[in-house]
This record gives sequence, C-alpha cells and structure tokens, in this order.
Amino acid sequence: HHLKEVGVFSTEIKVSDLSGDGGSNMPEKILVSACLLGIGCRYDGKEKENPRVKKLLENPDVVLIPVCPEQLGGLSTPRTASERSGDRVINQAGEDVTVQYQKGAEEALKMAELYGCKRAILKERSPSCGCGIIYDGSFSRQTVPGNGVTAELFLNHGISVFGESVLED
Ligand code: SF4
Repeated sequence: HHLKEVGVFSTEIKVSDLSGDGGSNMPEKILVSACLLGIGCRYDGKEKENPRVKKLLENPDVVLIPVCPEQLGGLSTPRTASERSGDRVINQAGEDVTVQYQKGAEEALKMAELYGCKRAILKERSPSCGCGIIYDGSFSRQTVPGNGVTAELFLNHGISVFGESVLED
C-alpha cells in the first residue's frame, strides 16, 4: 500500500519537471564541508559556521551539497584530533586512522560525482578537507604545505578546491 501511495505522489511531480531545460540554467552544485554550514560534525563536536559560506545558501545560482568526510569514513563525533603525518593520518592517541580518512575521501568523491560538482569549498587546514596548507602532524598548531586526504583525492579527479577564506563577502 505504501509503495502505491508513493507511486501516486511521483506522478504528480514528474522527474522531467525537475530537470530544467537540459542543464544550461541549472544552478551549479558545489560540494561543501558540512562544518562550514554550522553542522556539528567536527572532531571536538563544536560548530564552525562560516557566514560567507552560509550566505551562499541564498544564492539561486548555486546549490550546496554538504559532506563531512570524517563521518563518512566511520569516525565518531566527537573524535580524537588527527593530523596527517607523511602518507598516514595519526590521531593524538597515536592510532593510525588512515583507512577511515581514505574511506571518507572516497565517499565524499562519490557524492561530488553523483551531483556533478566541479568545485568544492572545503575547511582549511583539516587533515581531510584542508587544501594547500595543513597541520604538520605535531599537534602544535604548526602548519606545512600539503593537502588533506579528501582535498587531494578531489584534486586528482579534476575537482577544484577552495578554502573558506577565499570567498568574498
Ligand atoms: Fe569539517 Fe571536513 Fe572536518 Fe568534517 S572532515 S568536520 S567537513 S573539516
């Protein structure tokens, strides 16, 4: 019975009604680190909302697709802070969490590809989302040139990555 009801609903909103005129006037879909929208997915469970990113929600030319790679990789919230260390990711308790970071990056890439995102706005300095500059693995707030695991995978698949601070008001 439930399936039938859904069927009736779907005849009222046809997929063709939602797909626009073939794509040219469709808003651009941009993947975004969920924490920048105020979602409490960060390692410390705190939110880190960015007003400029949030303002993009009002822009009819873009649709934001929020993703948290670390949660998609199976890590809990809150979780022990982690930093990249060479080609591994190690948390502050000394545990190797590289597998979860890689899994999260792959799932985030799947989301980006499902939605056809060509650009992503990702949280700066994160071991997943950081692009260009990340923490150096010493847990002392020191940074080094480098990319988070997800940012790196995105770049390797032709998705442009921007940090939140490059957005203009
Ligand atoms: Fe934010 Fe990315 Fe860290 Fe998730 S993995 S909390 S989206 S910076």
